[in-house]
Amino acid sequence: MTDIGRFRVFVAAFTRLIDRAVGDEETIRTEGSILLADLVAHDDWLPDGYAQPHPEYYRQYLLWCDPLERFSVVSFVWGPGQTTPVHDHTVWGLIGMLRGEESSESFSVEGDGSLRPAVIETLTPGNVTAVSPAIGDIHKVTNALADEVSISIHVYGANIGAVPRHVFDPDTGAPKSFVSGYSNDAIPNLFDLSESVRVGLG
Ligand code: FE
Repeated sequence: MTDIGRFRVFVAAFTRLIDRAVGDEETIRTEGSILLADLVAHDDWLPDGYAQPHPEYYRQYLLWCDPLERFSVVSFVWGPGQTTPVHDHTVWGLIGMLRGEESSESFSVEGDGSLRPAVIETLTPGNVTAVSPAIGDIHKVTNALADEVSISIHVYGANIGAVPRHVFDPDTGAPKSFVSGYSNDAIPNLFDLSESVRVGLG
């Protein structure tokens, strides 16, 4: 059995941060990045079930969702060469590299709605970066390794799998709505509401 102690400590600390700083996104991003950097500094706590790649698609396994949906934590598992479409998040997000290497290409939006490539960032284990409507929310992420699995741990300011957001045509910038859901299929997942009616959650 994998000892998930580090992850428990992380979830508790992040919950305290959210309690204290709710509504203050900058503080959450700044202090949350330190907590996440601490978590991904050691690659010994993620159970194998949340580290499994798929031959065709990158995987998004929900690790934790705050019961009040103020934040969620997801492991992104990239098979060799896998990549996301250009997409946004609509809430703040932190990305911490646990294993392998990924590259994140961010885009700025032009006056006519088209997208312009801005920065390409390469993340290696221990690195943390952020996205948000406040600082730049549109990017495309790729496993930088052609023959190995890469894994990053993401924290978002909502139950991200149920958040309506967008993918963009890279040429025209035309947005299309999507809800990502989660890849978990072996365990009951109370928080994947992408295909069910949201009831009783204020
Ligand atoms: Fe993203």
